[in-house]
Amino acid sequence: MTNDKGRLCGCRCDGITAGGRFLPGHDSKIVPQLEADHGSLLDFWAWYEEAMKESGRSTAE
Ligand SMILES: [Zn+2]
Repeated sequence: MTNDKGRLCGCRCDGITAGGRFLPGHDSKIVPQLEADHGSLLDFWAWYEEAMKESGRSTAE
């Protein structure tokens, strides 16, 4: 089953995409959004790496 349509836009504008992660052009809005959420891109990357580590740990065998 392909259920890849009608996703919420990844930039959280509440738009619905035609199946991609972002509405056209909205992928470039995610960076300022992340900076606003995390303080800076560096802070975001630090948070992201921690989150990845934790998700890796939770899928332990
Ligand atoms: Zn959007």
